[in-house]
Amino acid sequence: MKRKIVAFHQDEVSDWVADLDCGHAQHVRHHPPFQTRPWVVSAEGRLSHLGIELDCKICDEEPRHVSKRRHLVRRYYDELWNAWDVSLADELLAPDFRFRGSHGFETRGREGFLAYLKMTRDAFPDLHNRIDDLIVEGTKVVARLTYTATHRGRIFGIDGSGAKIDYEGVAIFLVGATQLLSGWALGDRYELMRQLGIITDTQ
Ligand SMILES: [Zn+2]
Repeated sequence: MKRKIVAFHQDEVSDWVADLDCGHAQHVRHHPPFQTRPWVVSAEGRLSHLGIELDCKICDEEPRHVSKRRHLVRRYYDELWNAWDVSLADELLAPDFRFRGSHGFETRGREGFLAYLKMTRDAFPDLHNRIDDLIVEGTKVVARLTYTATHRGRIFGIDGSGAKIDYEGVAIFLVGATQLLSGWALGDRYELMRQLGIITDTQ
């Protein structure tokens, strides 16, 4: 099935991977002379390939309900979080959506979740959630993430500092027929606190 490239990331050995709009990912390696994609090693080259369609064999092979669950989580990150389109909360989240954020806060219901979203956005207006892995097992979806942002507003009792943050986390979602029922995220708060200057490394 033809799927559009929505982003790129590098895997554990620095090979380039294209993220597709179905939520799957596909390697786009540049290893001459065997695989030659010189465009993938430059930011401009990758930018010019966004929106181009690749054949997603995983989509062809996996059941439709699995693709739908993965796609729902993809939209949660790409549209609700990264694009801050809060109007999508009613569509993507169940009315009593239970949530534990990577910063440790827990909420219940869409209103509580949207308050958390606003608090996070006020502190990190350019927050980007990059999906490094997206695994579907039954009605659960597991995402491995890298969060990047600039610290612009008050959080954990610390005013905006301009610090660039970059930390990792994992989130597990329970997915219903058409909406996310719950989300549980565990972020590397130690690394986040360290980068915000709240914790200092000791020898
Ligand atoms: Zn796919």
